[in-house]
Amino acid sequence: MTASSGFLHGFPIRQLKGVGPALAEKLGKLGIHSVEDLLFLLPRQYEDRSHITPFGALIPGMTTLAEGEVKLTDIALGRRRALLVRLRDHSGGLTLRFYHFRQSQKESYKPGLRLRVFGEVRMGPLGPEMIHPEVEHVSSDSGLSDDASASTGLTATLTPIYPLVDGLSQRRLRELMARALPLLDQPDALIDVLPARSTGGWTLADALRHVHAPPLDSDRRRLIAGEHPAQQRLAFEELVAHQLSLFQRRQLQRQLPAPVCRDSTNLSADFLAQLPFQLTDGQSQVLQEIRQDLLRPLPMLRLVQGDVGSGKTVVAALAACPALASGYQVAIMAPTEILAEQHRQRFQSWFEPLGIRVGWLAGKLTGKARQQQLDSIASGECQLLTGTHALFQDSVQFAHLGLVIIDEQHRFGVEQRLALTRKGQSNGMAPHQLIMTATPIPRTLAMSAYGDLDTSVIHGLPPGRQPIQTVVLPASRRDDLIARIAHHVASGQQVYWVCTLIEDSEQIQAQAAEVAAELLREALPDLAIGLVHGQLKAAEKAAIMAEFAAGRLAVLVATTVIEVGVDVPNASLMVIENPERLGLSQLHQLRGRVGRGQAASFCVLLYQAPLSGLGRERLQILRDSQDGFVIAEKDLSLRGPGEVLGTRQTGDVSFRIADLLRDQHLLPAARQLAEHIAKDNPRHDHPLLQRWIAQRDHYASV
Ligand code: ADP
Ligand code: MG
Repeated sequence: MTASSGFLHGFPIRQLKGVGPALAEKLGKLGIHSVEDLLFLLPRQYEDRSHITPFGALIPGMTTLAEGEVKLTDIALGRRRALLVRLRDHSGGLTLRFYHFRQSQKESYKPGLRLRVFGEVRMGPLGPEMIHPEVEHVSSDSGLSDDASASTGLTATLTPIYPLVDGLSQRRLRELMARALPLLDQPDALIDVLPARSTGGWTLADALRHVHAPPLDSDRRRLIAGEHPAQQRLAFEELVAHQLSLFQRRQLQRQLPAPVCRDSTNLSADFLAQLPFQLTDGQSQVLQEIRQDLLRPLPMLRLVQGDVGSGKTVVAALAACPALASGYQVAIMAPTEILAEQHRQRFQSWFEPLGIRVGWLAGKLTGKARQQQLDSIASGECQLLTGTHALFQDSVQFAHLGLVIIDEQHRFGVEQRLALTRKGQSNGMAPHQLIMTATPIPRTLAMSAYGDLDTSVIHGLPPGRQPIQTVVLPASRRDDLIARIAHHVASGQQVYWVCTLIEDSEQIQAQAAEVAAELLREALPDLAIGLVHGQLKAAEKAAIMAEFAAGRLAVLVATTVIEVGVDVPNASLMVIENPERLGLSQLHQLRGRVGRGQAASFCVLLYQAPLSGLGRERLQILRDSQDGFVIAEKDLSLRGPGEVLGTRQTGDVSFRIADLLRDQHLLPAARQLAEHIAKDNPRHDHPLLQRWIAQRDHYASV
C-alpha cells in the first residue's frame, strides 16, 4: 500500500462536474488527468477586472476595464483598414480599433449603446485607444452587468489567465477551477507533507486558493512574476520532491558499478586517422576528461557544454571508442528525428569503415525493420545505436550497454534520460552517461537539476570559421531581402528561411511555414525551394534534409525543427522571421546552422515593427555577440519579472511550477529538506514523489 498524497490525486478529472469526454481529452493535452493536476495548473498572468477606469484616467500601457457610450463608428482606410469605434464617458473619450472585423460588427455598434471593454491602453492619433479589446454590451438602464461570470464583469478577485490549448477557453478553465477549489476544504484532499516552518506558514490548500483566486489586495506584480509567497510555497514543494528523487536515485546508482572502458584496440587512433581535420585543443581537453572517467568502475555522469559549432559530435564519437573497444554498446540519443537521422549518417560513415555496426531507431521505424533492429540490439550485434527518444521504450533491450550519450540535452526531460540509463542497469551495472549541450547552464543550476554531475566545457571553435554577420531588418524590407537571396544563391550558396511562432501548435507552425514557402516560390520562381516542418512524416523530413544537404535545394523554408544540430556547411545565409518571439539562446542555436563552412555567413533577423525597447536591446545582443555563453548571461540579466520566461532556455528539467532560475534561492533549503526526508523515510513511494514525480519518473516502475 502506498502512502497517499490525498484523495484528489486519484480523483479523475472526468468525475468533476461539467467535464465530459471531449473536455477531458483537451485537458489531457495539458497533462491534466486528475483534479490534483488541474489545481497545479497555475495561471501565468493575472488581470485586474475589479473596477472600471474612467477614460480620463487611462494611461498608455495599462490593461483595464473601461466603459462608455458609442458616439460613432467609422472605417479608417489608411495603411491598414480598420474599424474605429469612438466611446465617451463623463471624463473623456476612448477609441476602439479593430483590424479584423465584419460589416455586421460595424452595424452592431450603434450610437448610444453602452460597451464595457477590457484591453491594453495605447496612445492613438485621437487619444487613448484599445486594439481588439474584449467587448461586452451593457444594458444601458442598469449601467452595470450583473453577470459576474461574464468576461468583462467586475470580479471580486484578480482574474487568473491560464496557459491554453486549442479550443479551451479561459472562461472554461476558470469555471473548472471554481468547482475544484471547494474540494480542498474536505479533509485529506491533498495531504500537506512539508513542515510548517519550511513553508512560511502557507498550507498547500491556502497556497492553491490564493494562486487561483487572489484577493484584490494581493500583490499583482509579484504574482505575475511568480514570486508571491503562495507560488513560492508550491515551487518549493516541487523542488523538494525533485531533490528527493535525485537523492534516492543517486543512492541507487551508487550501488552499481560501471563497466571499465579501455581503448585496448586503438579504435580512437584509427578513428582520428580517417578524420579530415585535427581536434581543437578544446575538444582534446574534454575528451581527456571523459576518457579518465570511463576508466573507472563508477558510472560517469558528465555534462559537456560547447557552443554551437564547437564540434561536440566528434567528441561524442571519440567518447564512444573506449566503450566499443571494450565490447560494450553505446547509445546516442538526439532530440529530433532530423538530428537523429543526421547522426546515423555521420556515425555510419565514421564507424562502419572501422568495422563497427551502427543501428538506428526512431518512432517511425515500424514492422519488420523495427523488429530486426530490436533483435540486433538485444543480441549485441548492433554496437552503436543512434536514434530519438524511441531508444528508451520498453521494447528496447540492450545486450550490454556501456555508455549513453545524450545530445542537445536541453530538449529532453530528466525522465527520458533516466529511462535510458535504467536500461543498462539490467545486468547489474550502470552505464556511463555523457550529456552534450549548447545551452550554458550555470553550475549551481546544473547540480540541482542533475544531482552530482561533472561538467566540461569545449572552449573555442574549429579554425577557419567565418564570423556570422548578423543584420536586424524590419519586415518591410522583405523585398530587398528576397533580392539578396537570389544573389546569394547565384554565388553557389544555400539559404535557410526560418518561420518562428511561439504557438505550441505544430499545425499552426506548419501552416505559417507553408505560406512563407509559397510566397518565396512566387518571388523566386527559378530557385528550388524546399519546405520542412514538424507535421511531415519522418521519411519526408529526411528526404528533404538530404536534398538540401546535397545542394539540390537552394532555399530551405523551415520551422524551428532545424533548431538543433543540423549541419549543412554550404548554407551560409539564414533568415529568421519574427525573431522577437524567441529566446536569445534559441536564436543563437538557430543561427549556428550557418557559419559552418568557409564562406562568409549572414543571419538576417526579420522583425515585425514596432519593436519594444527591450526587444530591440535583445536583438542587438545577438547582433553584437557570437558567444553563446555571453548571450545566455545577458539574456538572463535582461529578463525582468513580467517578461515571458523561456522555459526551454532554463535547462531540461520539466517542472510544473518551479523555475530553476527564478527559484534558485529556494534550492539550498529544498535540498536540505529533501536529504532529511530521504534519511527518515527511505521509501520510494513518499507522497511527495507520488504528487510531483511519480508518473514521470522511474519510481512508477521500480
Ligand atoms: P556542434 O557542437 O554544434 O554539435 P558539430 O559537431 O555539428 O557542432 O560540428 C560542426 C562542424 O564542425 C561539423 O561539420 C564538424 O565536422 C566540424 N568540426 C568539428 N570539429 C572540427 C575540427 N576540430 N576542425 C574542423 N572542423 C571540425
Ligand atoms: Mg550538435
